[in-house]
Amino acid sequence: MKPFRYELAEDAEGAVATMVRPGAAYLAGGTNLVDLMKLGVTAPDLIVDVSDLPYREVETFEGGGLRIGALVTNSELATHPVVRTRYPAVSEALLAGASGQLRNRATVGGNLLQRTRCRYFQDLTKACNKRIPGSGCDARDGEHHDLAILGASPQCIATNPSDLAVALAMVDASVHYIGPHGPAAISVHDLFRRPGDRPDRDTNLPPGSLITAVVLPDCAIAAGSRYRKVRDRASFAFAAGSVAAALDVREGVVHDVRLAWGAVAHLPWRAWAAERALRGAPATPESFERAAEEELTTAKPLRDNGYKVPLLRNLTVGLLREMTP
Ligand SMILES: Cc1cc2nc3c(=O)[nH]c(=O)nc-3n(C[C@H](O)[C@H](O)[C@H](O)COP(=O)(O)OP(=O)(O)OC[C@H]3O[C@@H](n4cnc5c(N)ncnc54)[C@H](O)[C@@H]3O)c2cc1C
Repeated sequence: MKPFRYELAEDAEGAVATMVRPGAAYLAGGTNLVDLMKLGVTAPDLIVDVSDLPYREVETFEGGGLRIGALVTNSELATHPVVRTRYPAVSEALLAGASGQLRNRATVGGNLLQRTRCRYFQDLTKACNKRIPGSGCDARDGEHHDLAILGASPQCIATNPSDLAVALAMVDASVHYIGPHGPAAISVHDLFRRPGDRPDRDTNLPPGSLITAVVLPDCAIAAGSRYRKVRDRASFAFAAGSVAAALDVREGVVHDVRLAWGAVAHLPWRAWAAERALRGAPATPESFERAAEEELTTAKPLRDNGYKVPLLRNLTVGLLREMTP
Protein backbone atom coordinates (compact mmCIF):
# COMPACT_ATOMS: atom_id res chain seq x y z
CA MET A 1 0.00 0.00 0.00
CA LYS A 2 1.29 3.48 -0.86
CA PRO A 3 1.95 5.80 2.14
CA PHE A 4 -0.79 8.37 2.76
CA ARG A 5 -1.68 11.14 5.20
CA TYR A 6 -4.68 10.82 7.49
CA GLU A 7 -6.89 13.64 8.82
CA LEU A 8 -9.91 13.32 11.08
CA ALA A 9 -12.49 15.84 9.81
CA GLU A 10 -13.83 18.16 12.53
CA ASP A 11 -16.54 19.76 10.44
CA ALA A 12 -18.13 19.16 7.05
CA GLU A 13 -17.10 22.48 5.48
CA GLY A 14 -13.47 21.88 6.44
CA ALA A 15 -13.61 18.36 5.00
CA VAL A 16 -15.02 19.60 1.68
CA ALA A 17 -12.42 22.39 1.51
CA THR A 18 -9.66 19.79 2.01
CA MET A 19 -11.08 17.61 -0.75
CA VAL A 20 -10.47 20.18 -3.50
CA ARG A 21 -6.93 18.80 -3.45
CA PRO A 22 -6.52 16.07 -6.08
CA GLY A 23 -5.60 12.71 -4.57
CA ALA A 24 -7.74 13.05 -1.43
CA ALA A 25 -10.51 10.60 -0.46
CA TYR A 26 -13.20 10.46 2.22
CA LEU A 27 -13.19 7.53 4.59
CA ALA A 28 -16.41 6.45 6.34
CA GLY A 29 -16.68 2.77 7.36
CA GLY A 30 -13.71 1.94 5.12
CA THR A 31 -15.12 -1.43 4.00
CA ASN A 32 -14.76 -0.57 0.32
CA LEU A 33 -12.12 2.16 0.22
CA VAL A 34 -9.52 0.24 2.22
CA ASP A 35 -10.02 -2.92 0.12
CA LEU A 36 -9.42 -0.90 -3.05
CA MET A 37 -6.31 0.69 -1.53
CA LYS A 38 -4.94 -2.76 -0.67
CA LEU A 39 -5.55 -3.88 -4.24
CA GLY A 40 -3.83 -0.75 -5.58
CA VAL A 41 -6.97 0.24 -7.52
CA THR A 42 -6.98 3.56 -5.71
CA ALA A 43 -4.03 5.26 -4.02
CA PRO A 44 -5.09 8.49 -2.29
CA ASP A 45 -2.30 10.49 -0.67
CA LEU A 46 -4.72 12.06 1.83
CA ILE A 47 -7.52 10.27 3.67
CA VAL A 48 -10.17 12.54 5.20
CA ASP A 49 -11.95 10.50 7.86
CA VAL A 50 -15.53 11.79 8.11
CA SER A 51 -16.74 9.21 10.62
CA ASP A 52 -16.92 11.72 13.53
CA LEU A 53 -19.24 14.14 11.71
CA PRO A 54 -22.78 14.50 13.10
CA TYR A 55 -24.65 12.51 10.43
CA ARG A 56 -25.76 9.53 12.49
CA GLU A 57 -29.46 10.30 12.99
CA VAL A 58 -32.60 9.01 11.29
CA GLU A 59 -35.23 11.78 11.52
CA THR A 60 -38.90 11.30 10.68
CA PHE A 61 -40.84 14.15 9.06
CA GLU A 62 -44.29 15.14 10.30
CA GLY A 63 -46.10 14.43 7.03
CA GLY A 64 -44.16 11.19 6.44
CA GLY A 65 -40.74 10.78 4.91
CA LEU A 66 -37.35 10.23 6.48
CA ARG A 67 -33.99 11.96 6.58
CA ILE A 68 -31.18 9.45 7.01
CA GLY A 69 -27.76 10.75 8.04
CA ALA A 70 -24.96 9.64 5.73
CA LEU A 71 -23.11 7.93 8.60
CA VAL A 72 -26.02 5.79 9.78
CA THR A 73 -24.77 2.23 9.47
CA ASN A 74 -26.42 -0.31 7.21
CA SER A 75 -27.37 -2.36 10.32
CA GLU A 76 -28.94 0.63 12.09
CA LEU A 77 -30.97 1.57 9.04
CA ALA A 78 -32.12 -1.98 8.29
CA THR A 79 -33.50 -2.40 11.81
CA HIS A 80 -34.98 1.07 12.23
CA PRO A 81 -38.67 0.59 13.12
CA VAL A 82 -39.93 3.31 10.75
CA VAL A 83 -37.87 1.92 7.86
CA ARG A 84 -39.18 -1.58 8.54
CA THR A 85 -42.82 -0.47 8.55
CA ARG A 86 -42.89 2.32 5.94
CA TYR A 87 -40.08 1.24 3.59
CA PRO A 88 -39.58 -2.50 4.10
CA ALA A 89 -37.83 -2.89 0.72
CA VAL A 90 -35.06 -0.62 2.03
CA SER A 91 -34.62 -2.82 5.09
CA GLU A 92 -34.73 -6.04 3.05
CA ALA A 93 -32.21 -4.68 0.53
CA LEU A 94 -29.75 -3.81 3.29
CA LEU A 95 -30.16 -7.18 5.01
CA ALA A 96 -29.57 -8.93 1.68
CA GLY A 97 -26.15 -7.24 1.41
CA ALA A 98 -22.74 -8.25 2.75
CA SER A 99 -22.58 -9.81 6.26
CA GLY A 100 -23.61 -8.73 9.76
CA GLN A 101 -20.08 -7.58 10.60
CA LEU A 102 -19.80 -5.51 7.42
CA ARG A 103 -23.25 -3.99 7.83
CA ASN A 104 -22.28 -2.86 11.35
CA ARG A 105 -19.42 -0.89 9.84
CA ALA A 106 -20.74 0.15 6.41
CA THR A 107 -22.48 3.52 6.15
CA VAL A 108 -25.29 4.81 3.95
CA GLY A 109 -23.06 7.34 2.15
CA GLY A 110 -20.30 4.79 1.62
CA ASN A 111 -22.74 2.18 0.37
CA LEU A 112 -23.99 4.53 -2.34
CA LEU A 113 -20.48 5.46 -3.44
CA GLN A 114 -18.90 1.99 -3.27
CA ARG A 115 -17.18 1.12 -6.55
CA THR A 116 -18.15 -1.61 -8.99
CA ARG A 117 -17.22 -5.23 -8.25
CA CYS A 118 -16.27 -5.83 -11.91
CA ARG A 119 -13.20 -8.07 -11.57
CA TYR A 120 -11.40 -6.22 -14.39
CA PHE A 121 -11.75 -2.96 -12.46
CA GLN A 122 -10.16 -4.67 -9.46
CA ASP A 123 -7.34 -6.36 -11.40
CA LEU A 124 -4.45 -4.02 -12.22
CA THR A 125 -3.16 -6.38 -14.90
CA LYS A 126 -6.35 -5.97 -16.97
CA ALA A 127 -7.58 -3.13 -19.22
CA CYS A 128 -10.39 -1.13 -17.63
CA ASN A 129 -11.71 2.22 -18.83
CA LYS A 130 -13.23 2.86 -15.42
CA ARG A 131 -9.87 2.53 -13.67
CA ILE A 132 -7.70 4.02 -16.44
CA PRO A 133 -9.73 6.00 -19.01
CA GLY A 134 -8.84 5.02 -22.57
CA SER A 135 -7.16 1.75 -21.60
CA GLY A 136 -9.93 -0.49 -22.99
CA CYS A 137 -12.38 -2.98 -21.51
CA ASP A 138 -11.21 -6.58 -21.14
CA ALA A 139 -14.56 -7.53 -19.58
CA ARG A 140 -16.49 -7.25 -22.84
CA ASP A 141 -14.80 -10.36 -24.31
CA GLY A 142 -13.81 -11.81 -20.95
CA GLU A 143 -15.53 -13.09 -17.81
CA HIS A 144 -18.67 -10.97 -17.84
CA HIS A 145 -21.44 -13.27 -16.61
CA ASP A 146 -22.26 -10.86 -13.72
CA LEU A 147 -22.04 -7.64 -15.75
CA ALA A 148 -24.53 -5.26 -17.39
CA ILE A 149 -27.29 -6.04 -19.88
CA LEU A 150 -28.93 -2.59 -19.85
CA GLY A 151 -27.62 0.92 -20.52
CA ALA A 152 -23.98 -0.17 -20.98
CA SER A 153 -21.56 1.39 -23.48
CA PRO A 154 -18.76 0.07 -25.69
CA GLN A 155 -16.37 1.49 -23.07
CA CYS A 156 -17.88 -0.15 -19.97
CA ILE A 157 -20.24 -2.94 -18.91
CA ALA A 158 -19.74 -2.60 -15.15
CA THR A 159 -22.71 -2.87 -12.79
CA ASN A 160 -23.53 -0.85 -9.70
CA PRO A 161 -23.12 -3.21 -6.72
CA SER A 162 -25.35 -1.48 -4.14
CA ASP A 163 -28.53 -3.25 -3.01
CA LEU A 164 -29.59 -0.17 -1.05
CA ALA A 165 -29.44 2.03 -4.17
CA VAL A 166 -32.03 -0.19 -5.90
CA ALA A 167 -34.55 0.25 -3.08
CA LEU A 168 -33.82 4.00 -2.97
CA ALA A 169 -34.44 4.28 -6.73
CA MET A 170 -37.80 2.56 -6.23
CA VAL A 171 -38.92 5.18 -3.67
CA ASP A 172 -37.49 8.24 -5.49
CA ALA A 173 -35.03 9.13 -2.73
CA SER A 174 -32.81 12.19 -2.94
CA VAL A 175 -29.22 12.57 -1.83
CA HIS A 176 -28.12 15.68 0.07
CA TYR A 177 -24.52 16.77 -0.06
CA ILE A 178 -22.14 19.64 0.48
CA GLY A 179 -20.32 20.39 -2.72
CA PRO A 180 -17.65 22.93 -3.64
CA HIS A 181 -20.44 25.55 -3.96
CA GLY A 182 -22.28 24.68 -0.75
CA PRO A 183 -25.19 22.42 0.20
CA ALA A 184 -27.29 20.87 -2.58
CA ALA A 185 -29.48 17.86 -3.30
CA ILE A 186 -29.84 15.49 -6.24
CA SER A 187 -32.45 12.87 -7.06
CA VAL A 188 -31.07 9.34 -6.80
CA HIS A 189 -32.03 8.93 -10.48
CA ASP A 190 -29.66 11.76 -11.42
CA LEU A 191 -26.98 10.78 -8.92
CA PHE A 192 -26.03 7.60 -10.75
CA ARG A 193 -25.19 7.63 -14.45
CA ARG A 194 -24.82 5.41 -17.47
CA PRO A 195 -21.15 4.85 -18.30
CA GLY A 196 -21.23 6.41 -21.78
CA ASP A 197 -17.73 7.47 -22.77
CA ARG A 198 -16.84 8.51 -19.19
CA PRO A 199 -17.06 5.24 -17.23
CA ASP A 200 -14.47 6.58 -14.79
CA ARG A 201 -17.30 8.72 -13.35
CA ASP A 202 -19.74 6.68 -11.26
CA THR A 203 -21.98 9.61 -10.30
CA ASN A 204 -22.92 13.16 -11.23
CA LEU A 205 -21.79 14.55 -7.86
CA PRO A 206 -19.37 17.45 -8.22
CA PRO A 207 -15.84 16.30 -7.32
CA GLY A 208 -15.11 16.50 -3.59
CA SER A 209 -18.79 16.44 -2.55
CA LEU A 210 -19.60 15.09 0.89
CA ILE A 211 -22.90 13.22 1.19
CA THR A 212 -24.67 14.35 4.34
CA ALA A 213 -28.05 12.62 4.14
CA VAL A 214 -30.49 10.58 2.09
CA VAL A 215 -34.11 11.73 2.12
CA LEU A 216 -36.97 9.31 1.51
CA PRO A 217 -40.17 11.10 0.48
CA ASP A 218 -43.51 10.21 1.98
CA CYS A 219 -44.53 7.21 -0.14
CA ALA A 220 -47.65 5.34 0.94
CA ILE A 221 -47.19 2.54 -1.61
CA ALA A 222 -43.73 1.76 -0.15
CA ALA A 223 -45.30 0.41 3.05
CA GLY A 224 -45.96 -2.87 1.22
CA SER A 225 -42.70 -2.85 -0.75
CA ARG A 226 -40.37 -5.82 -1.08
CA TYR A 227 -36.80 -6.56 -2.22
CA ARG A 228 -35.80 -9.85 -3.82
CA LYS A 229 -32.20 -10.73 -4.67
CA VAL A 230 -30.72 -13.68 -6.58
CA ARG A 231 -27.04 -14.50 -6.11
CA ASP A 232 -24.61 -17.33 -6.70
CA ARG A 233 -24.83 -18.48 -3.08
CA ALA A 234 -27.38 -17.97 -0.34
CA SER A 235 -25.60 -15.18 1.56
CA PHE A 236 -22.58 -12.86 1.58
CA ALA A 237 -22.60 -12.36 -2.18
CA PHE A 238 -23.40 -9.55 -4.56
CA ALA A 239 -26.55 -9.82 -6.71
CA ALA A 240 -26.79 -11.58 -10.06
CA GLY A 241 -30.10 -9.74 -10.33
CA SER A 242 -32.49 -8.06 -7.91
CA VAL A 243 -35.88 -6.36 -7.84
CA ALA A 244 -37.36 -3.75 -5.53
CA ALA A 245 -41.12 -3.51 -5.96
CA ALA A 246 -44.21 -1.79 -4.57
CA LEU A 247 -47.70 -2.58 -5.84
CA ASP A 248 -51.15 -1.07 -5.33
CA VAL A 249 -53.94 -3.24 -6.76
CA ARG A 250 -57.57 -2.11 -6.60
CA GLU A 251 -60.39 -4.39 -7.75
CA GLY A 252 -57.97 -6.57 -9.68
CA VAL A 253 -56.37 -3.68 -11.57
CA VAL A 254 -52.89 -2.22 -11.04
CA HIS A 255 -53.56 1.26 -9.66
CA ASP A 256 -49.90 2.06 -9.06
CA VAL A 257 -46.57 0.22 -9.16
CA ARG A 258 -42.88 0.93 -8.55
CA LEU A 259 -40.13 -1.30 -9.90
CA ALA A 260 -36.33 -1.01 -9.80
CA TRP A 261 -33.73 -3.60 -10.82
CA GLY A 262 -30.24 -4.20 -9.52
CA ALA A 263 -27.10 -5.81 -11.00
CA VAL A 264 -28.20 -5.15 -14.57
CA ALA A 265 -26.67 -1.72 -15.26
CA HIS A 266 -24.11 0.90 -14.25
CA LEU A 267 -26.90 2.45 -12.17
CA PRO A 268 -29.86 1.15 -10.17
CA TRP A 269 -32.34 0.61 -13.02
CA ARG A 270 -35.77 2.10 -12.49
CA ALA A 271 -38.09 0.07 -14.73
CA TRP A 272 -40.12 3.02 -16.00
CA ALA A 273 -41.39 1.24 -19.15
CA ALA A 274 -42.62 -1.75 -17.15
CA GLU A 275 -44.40 0.58 -14.71
CA ARG A 276 -46.13 2.41 -17.58
CA ALA A 277 -47.21 -0.89 -19.09
CA LEU A 278 -48.67 -2.06 -15.78
CA ARG A 279 -50.67 0.97 -14.60
CA GLY A 280 -54.30 0.29 -15.42
CA ALA A 281 -53.62 -3.31 -16.51
CA PRO A 282 -55.17 -6.35 -14.83
CA ALA A 283 -52.98 -7.59 -11.98
CA THR A 284 -52.25 -10.95 -13.58
CA PRO A 285 -49.04 -12.91 -14.21
CA GLU A 286 -49.55 -12.29 -17.94
CA SER A 287 -49.53 -8.49 -17.45
CA PHE A 288 -46.50 -8.72 -15.14
CA GLU A 289 -44.64 -10.75 -17.76
CA ARG A 290 -45.56 -8.39 -20.61
CA ALA A 291 -44.41 -5.41 -18.54
CA ALA A 292 -41.06 -7.02 -17.69
CA GLU A 293 -40.57 -7.94 -21.36
CA GLU A 294 -41.32 -4.34 -22.30
CA GLU A 295 -38.53 -3.13 -20.01
CA LEU A 296 -36.16 -5.76 -21.38
CA THR A 297 -36.61 -4.83 -25.05
CA THR A 298 -33.50 -2.61 -24.83
CA ALA A 299 -31.39 -5.30 -23.12
CA LYS A 300 -28.14 -6.10 -24.92
CA PRO A 301 -26.80 -9.25 -23.33
CA LEU A 302 -23.28 -10.41 -24.11
CA ARG A 303 -21.96 -13.96 -24.65
CA ASP A 304 -22.29 -15.08 -21.02
CA ASN A 305 -24.84 -12.86 -19.29
CA GLY A 306 -27.95 -13.55 -21.37
CA TYR A 307 -29.36 -15.53 -18.43
CA LYS A 308 -30.10 -12.19 -16.76
CA VAL A 309 -32.93 -11.50 -19.21
CA PRO A 310 -35.15 -14.42 -18.09
CA LEU A 311 -33.82 -14.02 -14.53
CA LEU A 312 -35.09 -10.43 -14.25
CA ARG A 313 -38.35 -11.30 -15.97
CA ASN A 314 -39.06 -14.26 -13.70
CA LEU A 315 -37.90 -12.46 -10.56
CA THR A 316 -40.23 -9.55 -11.33
CA VAL A 317 -43.22 -11.72 -12.20
CA GLY A 318 -42.68 -13.93 -9.14
CA LEU A 319 -42.38 -11.02 -6.73
CA LEU A 320 -45.40 -9.15 -8.14
CA ARG A 321 -47.48 -12.35 -7.98
CA GLU A 322 -46.60 -12.71 -4.30
CA MET A 323 -47.53 -9.09 -3.68
CA THR A 324 -50.90 -9.30 -5.45
CA PRO A 325 -53.72 -9.38 -2.90
C1 LIG B 1 -17.16 -9.05 1.21
C2 LIG B 1 -18.11 -7.93 0.94
C3 LIG B 1 -19.40 -8.21 0.53
C4 LIG B 1 -20.29 -7.17 0.28
N1 LIG B 1 -21.56 -7.46 -0.16
C5 LIG B 1 -22.41 -6.44 -0.47
C6 LIG B 1 -23.70 -6.69 -0.98
O1 LIG B 1 -24.11 -7.85 -1.16
N2 LIG B 1 -24.50 -5.64 -1.27
C7 LIG B 1 -24.08 -4.34 -1.11
O2 LIG B 1 -24.84 -3.41 -1.39
N3 LIG B 1 -22.86 -4.08 -0.64
C8 LIG B 1 -22.02 -5.09 -0.32
N4 LIG B 1 -20.77 -4.82 0.13
C9 LIG B 1 -20.31 -3.45 0.11
C10 LIG B 1 -20.48 -2.73 1.40
O3 LIG B 1 -21.86 -2.58 1.67
C11 LIG B 1 -19.80 -1.40 1.19
O4 LIG B 1 -18.42 -1.65 1.21
C12 LIG B 1 -20.16 -0.38 2.24
O5 LIG B 1 -21.54 -0.10 2.21
C13 LIG B 1 -19.37 0.90 2.03
O6 LIG B 1 -19.62 1.76 3.13
P1 LIG B 1 -18.39 2.35 3.96
O7 LIG B 1 -18.96 3.31 4.92
O8 LIG B 1 -17.54 1.27 4.51
O9 LIG B 1 -17.66 3.12 2.79
P2 LIG B 1 -16.10 3.48 2.60
O10 LIG B 1 -15.34 2.27 2.22
O11 LIG B 1 -15.60 4.29 3.75
O12 LIG B 1 -16.24 4.45 1.34
C14 LIG B 1 -16.68 3.97 0.09
C15 LIG B 1 -16.58 5.14 -0.92
O13 LIG B 1 -17.50 6.16 -0.58
C16 LIG B 1 -16.83 7.40 -0.31
N5 LIG B 1 -17.58 7.98 0.81
C17 LIG B 1 -17.91 7.38 1.97
N6 LIG B 1 -18.72 8.17 2.70
C18 LIG B 1 -18.91 9.30 1.96
C19 LIG B 1 -19.68 10.49 2.15
N7 LIG B 1 -20.43 10.69 3.26
N8 LIG B 1 -19.66 11.44 1.18
C20 LIG B 1 -18.92 11.26 0.06
N9 LIG B 1 -18.17 10.15 -0.17
C21 LIG B 1 -18.19 9.18 0.76
C22 LIG B 1 -15.39 7.02 0.01
O14 LIG B 1 -14.49 8.06 -0.33
C23 LIG B 1 -15.21 5.81 -0.89
O15 LIG B 1 -14.93 6.23 -2.20
C24 LIG B 1 -19.87 -5.83 0.45
C25 LIG B 1 -18.57 -5.56 0.87
C26 LIG B 1 -17.69 -6.58 1.12
C27 LIG B 1 -16.29 -6.23 1.56
